[in-house]
Amino acid sequence: NQEEEIIVIGGGPCGLSAAIELQNKGFSPLIIEQGNIVHSLFHYPTHQQFFSTSDKLAIGGIPFFSTERKPKRNEALVYYREVVHQKQLRIRSYEKVTQAYKQQDGSFQLQTKEKTGNIRHYRAKALVIAIGYYNSPNRMNVPGEEYPHVYHYFHEAHPFFTQKVAVIGGKNSAVDAALELEKAGAEVTVYYRGNDYSESIKPWILPEFTSLIKNGKISMYFNTEVTEIHQDAIDIVVNGEDREKHKADFVFAMTGYHPDHSFIRSIGVSVDETTGRPMFDPETMETNIHGVYIAGVIAAGNNANEIFIENGRHHGSYIAEDLAEKWS
Ligand code: FAD
Ligand code: NAP
Repeated sequence: NQEEEIIVIGGGPCGLSAAIELQNKGFSPLIIEQGNIVHSLFHYPTHQQFFSTSDKLAIGGIPFFSTERKPKRNEALVYYREVVHQKQLRIRSYEKVTQAYKQQDGSFQLQTKEKTGNIRHYRAKALVIAIGYYNSPNRMNVPGEEYPHVYHYFHEAHPFFTQKVAVIGGKNSAVDAALELEKAGAEVTVYYRGNDYSESIKPWILPEFTSLIKNGKISMYFNTEVTEIHQDAIDIVVNGEDREKHKADFVFAMTGYHPDHSFIRSIGVSVDETTGRPMFDPETMETNIHGVYIAGVIAAGNNANEIFIENGRHHGSYIAEDLAEKWS
């Protein structure tokens, strides 16, 4: 059993930020990360440009310089690696926390699995859970969703040159993927269940998207549900009544992601059934389980457009403040 004061689960921007804030208060937290640092950002589309300006993604007081006002994914990867290096954060990479529970004496027992399959055990006085949501795509639960040509993550457009591609969803990931795919010569059709362009689409992206639709470069179906995916086609229902089959060589279901609350529930954290919001004090980020804190998008309910790096990066300072006060 490795004894630790504070363990931060998840090495995303918000977990890293929390660890730095804790270090600033004199603690020496250990971060346990199932992949490598900022694993979610690594899995973004390869050429993704952030919506946020670089100053809003900066953590730990370390300036983030980028070539344009809004940085690209690869610049963010460089930045967060540099932050970890400069701040000398303690990280165990490629180790997944598989179980956590509270003991009688108030401490927490953790079980982890290394990439070799080796099991390790830790004990900590406090936990900061910053596991994000990018692990868990929103499934449509339609037949055929498990086919290998159906993706919930978009990386690059090149393989889809000349291919008929169905993009499902109507917010930023769907629009970004559709634009990239069209640029690379794919035949793109977007299927969206909403009846108009979503208000969540960033205003500087929307004009390019609508103009490609107007010019017939991208096809768009509103009020459309995908009911089944076949190897070379999809079945759709338009306006709740018209059933159609459309050819589709590949399918990008850009239907968003959700925090997997089963982990925090297993430690006893309450989650509101309707909003999906965990029970926590927004001033300290402490949950209803004394000593368990949450940071980053795990604190969001079912609405993925509520907590970002921009605001989730501040959670760590509330946590550090609270622990410093309680343990002084
Ligand atoms: P994450 O970054 O998801 O980090 C969680 C970490 O926990 C991951 O590294 C994961 O591997 C690890 N983990 C999970 N489970 C375990 C476990 N059991 N054991 C160990 N480790 C675990 N936000 C902005 O503010 N501005 C933007 O411009 C912006 N652009 C975006 C573009 C795209 C395409 C997407 C998808 C999102 C974007 N976001 C943006 C949102 C942003 O990515 C998230 O808000 C951010 O990643 C949240 O940080 P986090 O640390 O809470 O979670
Ligand atoms: P999202 O915002 O959650 O949007 C998911 C889309 O899929 C919505 O249009 C939703 O419909 C639809 N959908 C959800 N479940 C569905 C189902 N079962 N069947 C059919 N459609 C379904 O997800 P996202 O676009 O991936 O964005 C996730 C996060 O990443 C957001 O915070 C976003 O801002 C961020 N992001 C940022 C950038 C950038 O910075 N450049 C780019 C992409 C994403 P409704 O509209 O009806 O809900």
